[in-house]
Amino acid sequence: MAKIIPLADARIVHGASVPAPHAAASFAPTGVLADTRGRALRDLRVSVTDRCNFRCVYCMPKDVYGHDYPFLPHAELLTFEEIARLARVFKAHGVEKIRLTGGEPLLRRHLERLVAMLSDIGGLDLTLTTNGALLAKKARELKDAGLNRVTVSLDALDDGVFRAMNDVDFPVSRVLDGIEAAAAAGLAPIKINVVVKRGVNDSEILPMARHFRNSGHILRFIEYMDVGHTNGWRLDDVVPSAEIIRIVGHEFPLEPIGANYPGEVAERWRYLDSDDAEAGEIGVISSVTQAFCKDCTRARLATDGKLYTCLFATQGYDLRALLRGSSADEEIINYLAAIWSQRADRYSEIRSERTAALPKIEMSYIGG
Ligand code: SF4
Repeated sequence: MAKIIPLADARIVHGASVPAPHAAASFAPTGVLADTRGRALRDLRVSVTDRCNFRCVYCMPKDVYGHDYPFLPHAELLTFEEIARLARVFKAHGVEKIRLTGGEPLLRRHLERLVAMLSDIGGLDLTLTTNGALLAKKARELKDAGLNRVTVSLDALDDGVFRAMNDVDFPVSRVLDGIEAAAAAGLAPIKINVVVKRGVNDSEILPMARHFRNSGHILRFIEYMDVGHTNGWRLDDVVPSAEIIRIVGHEFPLEPIGANYPGEVAERWRYLDSDDAEAGEIGVISSVTQAFCKDCTRARLATDGKLYTCLFATQGYDLRALLRGSSADEEIINYLAAIWSQRADRYSEIRSERTAALPKIEMSYIGG
């Protein structure tokens, strides 16, 4: 049985040092791997590019990076073969679901080839989060390659409000076309994610609810978070989920319904005023006002192969160095076990305006 990789070779730090994981003697994956709080490793988010065609205020604000945003050179990105190899390693530890993210994942050329490679592994629920700009073009080939579902980020229906949130001149109608193309291709149920920032797009809460009610798609409102280091987050910018439910519930009475599975991040609410099942449901994701760290089973693989165990991490572990070195899969499996078994992340439980100022990794690089 292989030993843990010497961490001096394997870890990557962003100006800080990563405490060495315990040298967990050789590890035979059993499919049950728990961190220090008893949380399993179930979900992997893979950022396939740090590039994006939008400049959302909560993710990659233009006024900070301008035109000099330091995108990674292509050689720094994990190849599709490397991502597929790591997917098998993560699956050995119990990962059941892989979500492709970015940046904007549909900007990565021939993404459908990666989807097909991941689909060939078998037993993985394959999903993708996109801004929808290229979805109308790509939906059918992604489905044919083996993608199961998509989540579309859409922060407003009004073009002006959309521009204020996403800092791009792009008609909302084309995102809606992408959603319909995804539905026609069978990438359902489709989730529509709305990040709500007070004073910018909170006026869109009710129009979005009206629009997507009866659509078969699941609208989810997300509290504005202090992701990355450049979005200038303030607590005052947050519209709490309870307020969002009050706003929607005023026009459409709602009742809470149970989670689809343990650890689901969205709290689900069903429209009450209709016998029609198609009226559907909405969800709220309350990362700020009701932290859900205790059920967090997600790891994030950044564009260049660094592994992060929290969306708000300040440092990661360099898996690419292992892939491009001489490490066998078994060594990477052991290394991953050592990382996860000492994970103690619970950022949202301890968030404050002080922690918001920490030099966190940008969301466009780590994946949302
Ligand atoms: S703050 Fe970190 S540990 Fe908590 S739910 Fe978010 S990603 Fe998971």
